[in-house]
Amino acid sequence: MIAPEIVQEIRRLLANENLSHRNIASLTGVSRGTVGAIASGERPDYDVLLQEIGDGVDEPAGPPMRCPGCGGWVYMPCRLCNARKEMATKPRFAPRGPKIQNLRATRL
Ligand SMILES: [Zn+2]
Repeated sequence: MIAPEIVQEIRRLLANENLSHRNIASLTGVSRGTVGAIASGERPDYDVLLQEIGDGVDEPAGPPMRCPGCGGWVYMPCRLCNARKEMATKPRFAPRGPKIQNLRATRL
C-alpha cells in the first residue's frame, strides 16, 4: 500500500500543477498506472476505508482470563474458540475420517 502522504501529494500535484502523469509518477516514485488510477478515482481511498471499518483490532473488553473452552489465556470472548465453532459448522472443514477409513479397509 502506498503511504497516505504520497497519495495526498499525488492528489495535490494532479489538482494544482500542470504535470503529466509520467512526471507525477517520477516525482513521487509510483507507477504511471497508480497515478492514473488515483486521477480517475479507480483506486480506493484506503484512508477513508480504514476510518470506516477501523483497523480490525477490537479493544479488549476486560482483563485477560483463562478460556474455559481451550484453556488459553485470552481476552474474552475467545477468538480461537469462536473460529473453531465457525469451522465446525462449515462442511469443507469437517473431518473426512470415515472416507479415509473405508479406503484403508478396501486396500487391506
Ligand atoms: Zn478458547
